[in-house]
Amino acid sequence: MSRVKIAAGNWKMNKTATEAVEFVQALKDKVAGADTEVITGVPFVCIPSVKKAVEGSNIKVAAQNMHWEENGAFTGEVSGAMLADLGVEYVIIGHSERRQYFAETDETVNKKTHAAFKYGLKPIICVGESLTQREQGVTSELVRYQVKIALLGLSAEQVKEAVIAYEPIWAIGTGKTATSEQAQEVCAVIRKVIEELYGKDVADAIRILYGGSVKASNAKELFTMPDIDGGLVGGASLDLDEFDKIVNYNK
Ligand code: PEP
Repeated sequence: MSRVKIAAGNWKMNKTATEAVEFVQALKDKVAGADTEVITGVPFVCIPSVKKAVEGSNIKVAAQNMHWEENGAFTGEVSGAMLADLGVEYVIIGHSERRQYFAETDETVNKKTHAAFKYGLKPIICVGESLTQREQGVTSELVRYQVKIALLGLSAEQVKEAVIAYEPIWAIGTGKTATSEQAQEVCAVIRKVIEELYGKDVADAIRILYGGSVKASNAKELFTMPDIDGGLVGGASLDLDEFDKIVNYNK
């Protein structure tokens, strides 16, 4: 089954709205003919101006987080309803930085994933092990658990639309990329657990990304592995030429 590859940028807490608009305006032409689905994960405050700037292009916009409630006394939070109202297509959920610094758990990831679907947003759900966990040999077990809890209670149709990003924590922002074999091995484990839970059709349809120091020089090797459907890209997505080359890795 052929799945459309994804190149999703995660800008983290980088770029002002002015810088963001400048960037996507330049990116639009570069990626116009891409075979890859192009997503930029921008800070909340950049969303309205970036959405306007990418109108009519093939660039989709992701938020980097959301709350699971629709509204209420949650100071500083943003809901799925608010993101949907701005026309956001994707939302990154459970990034390891959110888990580490903002106490996100597999349970909150599951709540957010349900809320994302409720408001018509596609979740990009992040999972992955720390270096200690890899050294202890529990990577597969841990990732299987994270995926199971994240997807708990979702329908097969929803899971087909979800995106999972396998991001080994030791490879994020460190310059240490997992080898394509290491990344493939865990992405295959993820597809297998989805097959066990939802059947082969769903497992064949869901897109599984690798994230962790993806750059122009390693994108092709990673993205052409059988169970890797593209990348969630941090640092390199802030650089126009690098991100262009990642999006167009097959040209
Ligand atoms: C990320 O932030 O999801 C990420 C993978 O970062 P980097 O590409 O910089 O390692």
